[in-house]
Amino acid sequence: MKSKEILILSGKGGTGKTTITGALAYWLEDKILVDADVDASNLPLLFAHQIIHQEPFKSGFVARKDEDLCTSCGICQEKCRFGAIDENFRIDPLACEGCGVCAWFCPEKAITMEEKEVGEIFYAESNHGPLIYAHLYPGEENSGKLVSEVKKKAKEWAEKKDLSYIVVDGSPGIGCPVIASISGADVVLLVAEPTISGLHDLERVIALIKHFRLPGALVINKADLNEQMAQKIKAAAQKQGLAILGEVPYDPQVFQAVQKGKPIPDIIDQSPVVEALKEIYEKFRQNCMD
Ligand code: SF4
Ligand code: SF4
Repeated sequence: MKSKEILILSGKGGTGKTTITGALAYWLEDKILVDADVDASNLPLLFAHQIIHQEPFKSGFVARKDEDLCTSCGICQEKCRFGAIDENFRIDPLACEGCGVCAWFCPEKAITMEEKEVGEIFYAESNHGPLIYAHLYPGEENSGKLVSEVKKKAKEWAEKKDLSYIVVDGSPGIGCPVIASISGADVVLLVAEPTISGLHDLERVIALIKHFRLPGALVINKADLNEQMAQKIKAAAQKQGLAILGEVPYDPQVFQAVQKGKPIPDIIDQSPVVEALKEIYEKFRQNCMD
């Protein structure tokens, strides 16, 4: 059975995207959870889980030198265009761009090119189903590739377990990791906040999902903080053919739930926030998930 891939996106950080993802995922059954924000994964903080497997993610190459073979001729330092080899002919792995020129010119064949480990992928069992997420190491730049890999692994895992849904918490912005998140998605849920920048960022992310011809729906978080702007955001989304699923009111209890590392419905019993989220969940199920 092909699992349906639901992607939750916001054009920027701080909109409450992960909090809303956590609430919807809390109610949805028969799914795998995926955190595609490989620079700062927050979804694992909301769901208690146990890591069952972790593996390195390798991308690109780095030069390694065999000291026993090196005669200190200096050719490698002379040829390296990136200043990654110092006056003692030591290679700085952080500065090395993996071009392979030093290995090519080394007369002693003392340098080899090795695959570079740039991150880690984690497979976990959470209290709400399987969970997969990743961390890109600081300073590394292959976030798009890592997102693609995480999504590929999630799809394989979902197929193996015959799960109906893959719920992907996307990364903020509209850059490479977001484009990698969009690839293969079946439907996109956008989360916006009622601010000028929220409107601007929403317009950018709508353009992106339109480019990929994906169906989308919108949720406005903390909508009552600026009702005028919430109306503008709704109008902009409707103009682009997006379904408006609902508005979530501001509630300081949400912050407490986040601080406790739990999905909202797990902490708050009865409140306008939970009612709004439940309604959004039902609408999303009826209109976007079949
Ligand atoms: S080119 Fe090879 S032999 Fe010469 S300094 Fe570099 S690693 Fe050593
Ligand atoms: S692989 Fe390229 S960047 Fe890295 S040390 Fe060798 S020449 Fe410099």
